[in-house]
Amino acid sequence: AGTMFAAGSALAAYPDHPVNMVVPFAAGGPTDNVARSLAEAMRPTLGETIVVENKGGAGGTIGTNQVARAQPDGYQVLLMHAGFSTAPSLYKSPGYDPYTSFAPIGLVVDVPMTIIARSDFPANNIKELAEYVKKNHDKISLANAGIGAASHLCGVMLAEAFGVNLLTIPYKGTAPAMNDLLGKQVDLLCDQTTNTTQQITSGKVKAYAVTSLKRVPTLPDLPTMDESGFKGFEVGIWHGMWVPKGTPQAVQDKLIKALQAGLADPKFQDRMKQLGATVLSSDANPQALDAKVKQQVPQWEKLFSKAGVEKQ
Ligand code: ASP
Repeated sequence: AGTMFAAGSALAAYPDHPVNMVVPFAAGGPTDNVARSLAEAMRPTLGETIVVENKGGAGGTIGTNQVARAQPDGYQVLLMHAGFSTAPSLYKSPGYDPYTSFAPIGLVVDVPMTIIARSDFPANNIKELAEYVKKNHDKISLANAGIGAASHLCGVMLAEAFGVNLLTIPYKGTAPAMNDLLGKQVDLLCDQTTNTTQQITSGKVKAYAVTSLKRVPTLPDLPTMDESGFKGFEVGIWHGMWVPKGTPQAVQDKLIKALQAGLADPKFQDRMKQLGATVLSSDANPQALDAKVKQQVPQWEKLFSKAGVEKQ
């Protein structure tokens, strides 16, 4: 009975020290940008600091696995995006099961992507880009954040749309990929607006199109892929929050409440809006995230098998 009492009071005290939010990509990138704003917005309700830990590599699977294997005590939470649901169709041993390794907390934001190039890349619009890439595909490099990352998924769809294979260069996140694009060491990148908006509006990179079906209000001059002749081309990068399976329900409930309060914070909403992201307030709950994962895993599986992408 003594231990039960101890466990009960430890639970009541959650959190009594800082919580780690694991971002499975490098600092300064799009997922990290969302995480850092969210960590701040959740703090008042959670009553503790949330420390962002960047654990990049292998398309986000390394950091995701770290949380899958962590103590289920609420002190390690995962902030990951759509790539969460792609690993099972891309890796022979992804290390986690998207259906059973985690307890979902809720959806966070939906973020469109942009197709961009180094500032001196020859093509000036999406039509020219398609032609140039078709002619020069063996000389072009596409940066991404590893197999299964959003930038990789977008690249697979781009290669399909253009009917070519592209040489890809993996990074631990798209922050370092962006650095190399700015330094003109790579040619192309497809990345979330949460990382690209500033570089696009300040003219430091060339931008060709957005991957949403509608134009992005903060980047009104960028056409959609769909309106540019690539009918149905759509990638929306939803982000979610998870804890390890087995985390006590009372701890999950505190995180759900803090997430919902964080998404309602006007400062968080403003920041996301500036970066072209949509805050998914009404889906910030376990049911919505669970449904999303169940819909997304088979959808990506179908896309990869159609594109002939093999597991590695
Ligand atoms: N946006 C990146 C990707 O998944 C990851 C990141 O650096 O946040 O491609």
